[in-house]
Amino acid sequence: MTRQYVAYLQKQPSFKLRLSTEVESIVKNADGSWRVTSKNLKDGSRQSVDAKFVFIGAGGGALHLLQKSGIPEGDDYAGFPVGGSFLINDNPDVATLHLAKAYGKASVGSPPMSVPHLDTRVLGGKRVILFGPFATFSTKFLKEGSYLDLLSSTTTSNIWPMMRVGMDEFPLVEYLAEQLMLSDDDRIAALREYFPKAKKDEWRLWQAGQRVQIIKRDPQKGGVLKLGTEIVNAKDGSIAALLGASPGASTAAPIMLQVLEKVFAKNVATPEWQAKIREIVPSYGTKLNDDPDRVAQEWAATSAALELPAPPQIDRAVVKPVSTGSTVLNSSPGTVKEPVHDLAP
Ligand SMILES: Cc1cc2nc3c(=O)[nH]c(=O)nc-3n(C[C@H](O)[C@H](O)[C@H](O)COP(=O)(O)OP(=O)(O)OC[C@H]3O[C@@H](n4cnc5c(N)ncnc54)[C@H](O)[C@@H]3O)c2cc1C
Repeated sequence: MTRQYVAYLQKQPSFKLRLSTEVESIVKNADGSWRVTSKNLKDGSRQSVDAKFVFIGAGGGALHLLQKSGIPEGDDYAGFPVGGSFLINDNPDVATLHLAKAYGKASVGSPPMSVPHLDTRVLGGKRVILFGPFATFSTKFLKEGSYLDLLSSTTTSNIWPMMRVGMDEFPLVEYLAEQLMLSDDDRIAALREYFPKAKKDEWRLWQAGQRVQIIKRDPQKGGVLKLGTEIVNAKDGSIAALLGASPGASTAAPIMLQVLEKVFAKNVATPEWQAKIREIVPSYGTKLNDDPDRVAQEWAATSAALELPAPPQIDRAVVKPVSTGSTVLNSSPGTVKEPVHDLAP
């Protein structure tokens, strides 16, 4: 999907894709625009671009870039990296038995990101089964990042919130310590709760990724750990960054709508923008959770647009009765809902 999307964008005259390029600095120009300077990692050359609006979507790299922009809103944030490893089975006889992403429940006292799941995944074109996550710890913010990431993101503004979270979130520290002490047999025992016939020699441990949990300054507590995602933007709306653990596939679209509502609030309020957003997202502003008719309608429209098979009938017997009707979530552009984050690692 990403390739299709980028192939489309590359046909647009104003779009440029720069690969193997690292953004090194984001500096405000005298006219209020931003100068973004990046380095080509292959030949070492540097390039700058001036932009009226900058969006920082750099996963674990976002906090550093936000800090480089120097906006005061960034001072409230710190990051805490947690890694995830999975047991992986690529025996085709086993991998073809399971075609689902099946979640269990987090153990009592464990954070939501620890929810165990047995997933079908396609890695490098090969269908495999993953089971996890098992938490790991590294001071890197990106899988291929630097061991200095944690230290270099620590500032005089965010050190106190980080220390407060260290003191207040003892269960998380305990959970991490327990996870780090797991043996191979412990992990296989956890897998067998979901897949009782699992054979130990068919599963290997795989380091899947890093996620940077947000630590935010809090006037009452000093600092709080946030397990979701957060959009941080400058007051003048000229720059926004997406921080947090899992802004992935499941939440990317609502997050981008929230960026529009936060940063381009005046434009979003206009009938032209409202009409365009509804053309792209027909269900915009409608809560679908308790409205099976709207879900069926939206699902059918999405499947048709994406040329997917027609969706199945919704089993009304398992759906709660429709409440007082659809609730408008984003009726006023200023109202920004807390983003729901994905439970995946
Ligand atoms: C094993 C695993 C399973 C997952 N499963 C799911 C799932 O089922 N559903 C789901 O919704 N999410 C899932 N996620 C989470 C999802 O993958 C991430 O939330 C998502 O990839 C985040 O997207 P992103 O673009 O914000 O960041 P990333 O995918 O981390 O991309 C950020 C990019 O920015 C680059 N970058 C960083 N700093 C700079 C810089 N200074 N200059 C230039 N580039 C920079 C990085 O190299 C990277 O390429 C999973 C994650 C893992 C590891």
